Amino acid sequence: MPELPEVETVCRGLSENILGLNVSSVEVYAEKLRDFIPADLNKKILNHTITKIERKAKYILIHLAANMDLQTNGDGNVLEPRSPVLIIHLGMSGRLTIQDEAYQRKKHDHVILKLNGLQLGTVAERVSPRLRRTNDRGTLLVFNDARRFGVITLTDLENLSQHKLFRKLGLEPLAREFTVAKLKALFKNRNKNIKNTLMDASLIVGIGNIYASEALFRSGIHPERTASSLTDKDIKKLHEQIIVTLEDAIRAGGSTLKDFSKANGESGYFQYQFKVYGREGLPCFTCKTLIERIVQGGRSSFFCSKCQK
Ligand SMILES: [Zn+2]
Repeated sequence: MPELPEVETVCRGLSENILGLNVSSVEVYAEKLRDFIPADLNKKILNHTITKIERKAKYILIHLAANMDLQTNGDGNVLEPRSPVLIIHLGMSGRLTIQDEAYQRKKHDHVILKLNGLQLGTVAERVSPRLRRTNDRGTLLVFNDARRFGVITLTDLENLSQHKLFRKLGLEPLAREFTVAKLKALFKNRNKNIKNTLMDASLIVGIGNIYASEALFRSGIHPERTASSLTDKDIKKLHEQIIVTLEDAIRAGGSTLKDFSKANGESGYFQYQFKVYGREGLPCFTCKTLIERIVQGGRSSFFCSKCQK
């Protein structure tokens, strides 16, 4: 399952490749993934230009602006309250890839957006230098999802923060809002184990099973400790290592962005060197003690019993 660093990597890859392109056709081949794909997707985003791509938790947000708005509003402020925002979640097996026009649709390709360079003369340049594109060849953005746990839905800028998918989300670990003080407040009186606490998206978003194990190892904290038992020193260390772990993984992913644009859809996820995750029975890189695996909340946790207390 893609975790936060993979989703961040996908967002950065998309930003480099499709920002400023215009949606010239929308092909939808499935009625439903985890939820229904909006029946009016085509109507809402056709002839819109991609103005911004960002990650929110593990969702990919593709902001769009009507080309008419782009023509009339050249001051750079292209995001109107009603500007559509395409929300994508990769689910368990979803992939977004960029293909060229000659691409033949494959099994499980559920949505294909055809994208073109703006045909509006200098509009893109007026709007923002970042939107400057001259791409005469068509580009396809393909969403493939064999297991159909992904999400493709639509909202607008005005309703984005109150959207049902985002209303109850916890702290974003790579945003400024993620502070030691806030982490400490979350852990106070919480008697659940720290591993499952970290994975609770209503508290902190985007720390899945892999990075929870990795961040705890790097912090020297045993996964079975209760969240409330963490000392101020533990919390400070954990706060730092959550950020470092995620950023390291994003950097590892960053090196494969070229491959991404070649559309094989791979992220740095597979290249990232895990310190404990998936290493049961192998020696700890720090102390040579064999890494152990336990099951917490139905998920495997990996840890070193000597390094983590
Ligand atoms: Zn160790």
